[in-house]
Amino acid sequence: MTSASGDAASAALVSSARAEAVVDLDAISANVAALRAHVGGRDVMAVVKADGYGHGIVASARAARAGGASWLGVAFLDEALALRASGDKGPILSWLAVPGERYDVGVAAGVELSAYSVAQLREIGAAADRVGKRAAVQLKLDTGLGRGGAHRDDWAELVDAAARSQETGSVEVTGVWSHLARSDEPGHPSISAQTAALATGVAHAVESGLAPRHLHLANSGGTLGSPGTWFTMVRPGIAIYGVSPFADGTSPVPIRPAMTLHGRLALVKRVNPGQGVSYGHTYVTERETTLALVPIGYGDGIPRHGSNRGPVLLNGRQYLVAGRVSMDQFVVDIGEASAAAGDAVVVFGDSDRGEPTAHDWAQAADTIGYEIVTRVGSRVPRGYVGAVGP
Ligand SMILES: *Cc1c(COP(=O)(O)O)cnc(C)c1O
Repeated sequence: MTSASGDAASAALVSSARAEAVVDLDAISANVAALRAHVGGRDVMAVVKADGYGHGIVASARAARAGGASWLGVAFLDEALALRASGDKGPILSWLAVPGERYDVGVAAGVELSAYSVAQLREIGAAADRVGKRAAVQLKLDTGLGRGGAHRDDWAELVDAAARSQETGSVEVTGVWSHLARSDEPGHPSISAQTAALATGVAHAVESGLAPRHLHLANSGGTLGSPGTWFTMVRPGIAIYGVSPFADGTSPVPIRPAMTLHGRLALVKRVNPGQGVSYGHTYVTERETTLALVPIGYGDGIPRHGSNRGPVLLNGRQYLVAGRVSMDQFVVDIGEASAAAGDAVVVFGDSDRGEPTAHDWAQAADTIGYEIVTRVGSRVPRGYVGAVGP
């Protein structure tokens, strides 16, 4: 499993695995490189939280670095520490924590930390003093998402506290940042409003004596669709894995899906007309037909909401799931086509190879492509192809 081609991705499956998520690391590298070119060479912080959106955090991070990501972004400190343990020595930002977080370990490991509140800043500063090392902190402003980050009314207090901690040497504020609410709707007025609010927040920070170098707002949607949000750095996640953040599944920058979810049929059998299929018999055969059993279910992350709707590729044709997706398996009605136990199935992958995509599954299950790839469970082994190596 060292070659980069789609053929190799299929070949990996010739292992006897009943299911395998094959991740093309070259696709991740190429997607990062394409995004970096798109933003005119600005810094790219590749977001590898949630086990690299299901692709494997360490392998995804290596592929992203190879593609030119100068930064890695994660939600939680444990994720940053896993990257350090894998040997990654580059800049990493970790942005979500609860009181009592092991900031000492994070500071010692040289992980940059985000602060949303004065209390959190104090905790980080105290940890830095204990470790005897200055903590690199990026202050987060809530510019309108209404989720994490300091409220506009609390910003002056946070910035002043940060300036004082910087004078005592406990922390250095390296960045100021925020997160978009509606980046999947380019042109939406909230995007320019949030951009202006971040610029105002940065100006306050500078007036207070801070000199943040890293200013960032854009996730994948902003990176792809809203150049005004780019500041000094962009923070794409889903796009580096080749899945569009937009509802129509398109991307103005060519990106390639990195994950292909393969399976192998467990059983093929002829059944009579009127045969109810799977729990609740929500699908009933209309004529004599052939059913194929795919041994992958919601215990592997296949959404049960994809029952009777999710597509799969089998022997060159796409079929929909027949009946309910259960914990370990689902059924496909292949009519008069022929198939045999052991035949390869692709649940989702790359439409350029005729495969259904994570976006197709998202539509079938009333969710977003993010959830489809990220949910692929720990019961599914990951296989890697591509020159970077896992
Ligand atoms: C997850 C996340 C991102 C990446 O978002 P995508 O839409 O996947 O590009 C960026 N910034 C923050 C704060 C996030 O939580």
